[in-house]
Amino acid sequence: MSASPSTKQKERLIELRARLENNIEHLRHDLDRAQQQLADEAGSEDRLAEAAGLVQSRETGVSLEEQLSTLLERVEAAILAIDEGRYGICAACGRPIPDERLEAVPYAERCVDCQRKKEKR
Ligand SMILES: [Zn+2]
Repeated sequence: MSASPSTKQKERLIELRARLENNIEHLRHDLDRAQQQLADEAGSEDRLAEAAGLVQSRETGVSLEEQLSTLLERVEAAILAIDEGRYGICAACGRPIPDERLEAVPYAERCVDCQRKKEKR
């Protein structure tokens, strides 16, 4: 019995999910540390510029965490779609998403045309 294409995609997605979860965990750890550093340095005037830099990187970190979380949600939705047998079907037009696109973006929810239309809006 050979693995079906969606079984292979599921393996890729599960691997991707593990990587994302790992990244998010590291990111949260770094954010905590940056916040702690900032609290320690508050009040020390010559460190103010440096502290401001930490706030900056913290804000960047939060938006990166949001991006990773969004990606993780999409990966989980794709894994669910495989389990429910509706993987690879465009969420907008209901046509099958081409294999090349799923190969490039395994968590794609839409075909290229529908994705472009969505992004133009
Ligand atoms: Zn479509």
